[in-house]
Amino acid sequence: MPEAISTVFTPASGEEVPGLYLHIPFCKSRCAYCSFNSHACQSPPAAYLAALASQIRYWADQQWCRERVFATLFIGGGTPTIYGGDELAELVRLCLTSFRFTEDAEITVEGNPNTVTVEALTTLRRAGVNRLSLGVQAFSDRLLGALGRSHTKGEACAAIKAARKGGFTNINLDLMYGLPGQSATDWRESLDQALAFGPEHLACYELTIEEDTPFGRLVEKGALILPEEEEAMAMAALTHDLLAQAGLQRYEISNYAMPGKECRHNLNYWRNGSYLGLGAGAVSCLSGFRFGTVREPGEFTGLVQKGELPLAEGECLPLAARFRESVVMELRMLDGVSFARMQRRFGLTPPGYYGNILDELQAQGLIVVTQDSLRLTEAGLPVANQVLARLV
Ligand code: SF4
Repeated sequence: MPEAISTVFTPASGEEVPGLYLHIPFCKSRCAYCSFNSHACQSPPAAYLAALASQIRYWADQQWCRERVFATLFIGGGTPTIYGGDELAELVRLCLTSFRFTEDAEITVEGNPNTVTVEALTTLRRAGVNRLSLGVQAFSDRLLGALGRSHTKGEACAAIKAARKGGFTNINLDLMYGLPGQSATDWRESLDQALAFGPEHLACYELTIEEDTPFGRLVEKGALILPEEEEAMAMAALTHDLLAQAGLQRYEISNYAMPGKECRHNLNYWRNGSYLGLGAGAVSCLSGFRFGTVREPGEFTGLVQKGELPLAEGECLPLAARFRESVVMELRMLDGVSFARMQRRFGLTPPGYYGNILDELQAQGLIVVTQDSLRLTEAGLPVANQVLARLV
């Protein structure tokens, strides 16, 4: 490790336990809305996994990592399950033997429905994976086709059943609303179907249109018709009602969980904690020092093979900027921002720092400020982005 890096990573007192993220940047095909670092391929390269394994060994030996016990491992993508169960299980085992993890560590693998089998999932479960996140998006072949997803409703149902058979008792399903051609009735059908499987966690995101995607280009040309704002709001309201009735508590703007099944890996991101991200395009934040990894999988693999660190740009945010960033991220959670945690981490509290701005937002009914915390109200949640923009 270059000296400059090893001296930056000194232990930080009072820091919460970090998470480890591995990025698999391959998918069977590209969805029309996707802006993630993912590349279409039918047969993912073994060399990429070898490079990732080499990075796992390298980082596990660095002082910052040796001094810490990790609470979560998340293998995301892309589509991690595009690799076979044995290959992924080997990667998981390598992490578990190279880094120190808490006894009850949350270990998640993301997958897409047409890339999982009972055998592969059983292998992952035996390797220690205890949470599966499936990208279902919709239980409708018409809508899946419109999104350019590579799987069908039948494959989604089969994947969830395979996950239960493989021994998973903690499953997240990703679903999307506000899709082209989707009505509130369609959305209700997707939610009902998802709930029929009794998932422990649901992530329900409204479709966002990103530039430089097929959907982005269609929107520019006026050729993509999305649901009216009122209809999208109705879908959002339906989500909260149906999921609450099913016992899934909303704990973040778009995330719902059975009690105790909140995604701990993502909670750490929203608390602006430390995390090590390995793989093409992955980002790390170690005690406030944030840096990226080169995005292109071939470049990542090539640099590692040459014995070089595949790092991209890095920055160390000033304390006040980190404080603001943490407030904005924690406000995404329904629990809101704990003043005690902010005081402990930054020596600052939101009332002292923002002053009148909080009074104004409170007068508008968008936030609630108590003795020890700050959170969005029911009225503030749907316009969260506007509230957060005032606090950045
Ligand atoms: S499956 Fe996910 S990561 Fe892959 S192309 Fe579709 S949206 Fe992107």
